[in-house]
Amino acid sequence: MALDPIPVLQSTFGFPDFRGVQRQVVDRVLGGRRTLAVMPTGAGKSLTYQLPAQMLPGTCVVVSPLIALMHDQLRAATAVGIRAATLTSADDNRAETRGRFLDGELDLLYVAPERASGSDFRELLSRGNLSLFAIDEAHCVSEWGHDFRPDYRLLRPLFDQFPDVPRLALTATADAHTRADILEQLGIPQDGLIVAGFDRPNIRYHITPRDQGTRQIADVIAATPGPGIVYVQSRAGTEKLAEALARTGRPVRVYHAGLDPAVRQRNQHDFVASEDMVMVATIAFGMGIDKPDVRFVAHAGLPKSIEAYYQETGRAGRDGDPAVAHLFWGADDFARARQRIGEVEPARQPGERQRLNALGALVETAGCRRAMLLRHFGEQPGDYCGNCDNCLSPPNAVDATELAQKYLSAVFRTGMMFGATYIEQVLTGQSTERSLMNGHEQLSVWNIVDGDDVALLKPVGRALQLRDALRANDHGGLEFGPAARGLLKGGDTLSMIVPPKRERRRRGGGSA
Ligand code: ADP
Ligand code: ZN
Repeated sequence: MALDPIPVLQSTFGFPDFRGVQRQVVDRVLGGRRTLAVMPTGAGKSLTYQLPAQMLPGTCVVVSPLIALMHDQLRAATAVGIRAATLTSADDNRAETRGRFLDGELDLLYVAPERASGSDFRELLSRGNLSLFAIDEAHCVSEWGHDFRPDYRLLRPLFDQFPDVPRLALTATADAHTRADILEQLGIPQDGLIVAGFDRPNIRYHITPRDQGTRQIADVIAATPGPGIVYVQSRAGTEKLAEALARTGRPVRVYHAGLDPAVRQRNQHDFVASEDMVMVATIAFGMGIDKPDVRFVAHAGLPKSIEAYYQETGRAGRDGDPAVAHLFWGADDFARARQRIGEVEPARQPGERQRLNALGALVETAGCRRAMLLRHFGEQPGDYCGNCDNCLSPPNAVDATELAQKYLSAVFRTGMMFGATYIEQVLTGQSTERSLMNGHEQLSVWNIVDGDDVALLKPVGRALQLRDALRANDHGGLEFGPAARGLLKGGDTLSMIVPPKRERRRRGGGSA
């Protein structure tokens, strides 16, 4: 008596077949078993509850964290003829929706998690007929996730009132730790975990230290025709960068939560319709946008986590054609992120720190970026993808421990108050008025770096900050961080990537 979902897939949704793990997930749900599906963005998560909602008697209650997202999904579901409604504070037809639910006229009912705590909602559910609980963005239930929302913790007690109604938790972003936590928090058995393949083979990953951020991004735009997204950390930053990028000749728009809603919508609409537009945006942009032909995603600064990086870069190349992802990072990004971690509640700090270190490892690696990403999502990829910066031009790794020790010594001997430029001048013996006045030319660390090591000084300074061996104070002066000791005395080592020699910049003539 197994239910066959294929006819409904074809007639209602118009798809000839399932993709990836969709079939596996749908079969489990139709069998009434609790499930956590981890599927990357664009893999088609919505279908895995919408289809069972069409086939099973009763209403599927969908928990979703953002009202805007819910309304997008509502539109999409209604468009294919699914009977759906949202029940949120933003809806003024709530009484009507309750009536439709009780009369069995709804396949899908979208609600926000805070709804779950109300006894009147519980009461409403008990008077209707339920087919399924679907929990979208299920990582919000975990403190290990990057987007913990306490309201998600109220779901379990509600679901437990309806033990026979199956549960389907969905997320695009969960490392092993977060997954285990979601299973536990939502009462889903271990064998209910289904993980889709995360590889996006048509995306080429590039990760580069930032020098002059604007020029680097303008270069990406010049080299990549087609629509693209540039992610910037602050609202003000998007405006500034957009202005600078207007000179590239491409149409440029901005998107952030501080814009007038009408402007925001117009920009988004124009971007979706465009074939060459560059959208300079905060991470508020992209969720729920269906634009398959985005050719590049560039991060002007460090994303929040590997999950966030994967999700944001995943908006490129959904059509399967080649696309690129560029990330430009600076030591100051890591310093700021560390500072922010210091401000969150203590219980969450270890998790946040782990997340930041994972990002540090990704940007620092001399190995395959894709392999590192996929390993993070629990897969066992090969060591060579052939489609990331490090695979395409393998960097040389050198042991820079001694240079790091010299660097740290110079910071120490000069009193832990000078910035990177001054430290480099001391180490390379560049006499300035300041160094003379400070008497630093007499120090044992004066002029002890030369040759090839000079070019490594800046990257070493960056790596020391990334590892928290050095911290910049409010005035830009470098001080020791907790990891300094291990490098100076504890036998820790620092290996550095020497970037592949760039082709010499054009200097006019055509010499080879
Ligand atoms: P997710 O929520 O996982 O990011 P969506 O549910 O928004 O993904 O689906 C992404 C896109 O894939 C949508 O345009 C959807 O219509 C399409 N899609 C989903 N399932 C299939 C399928 N089996 N065959 C073809 N396209 C599909
Ligand atoms: Zn690779």
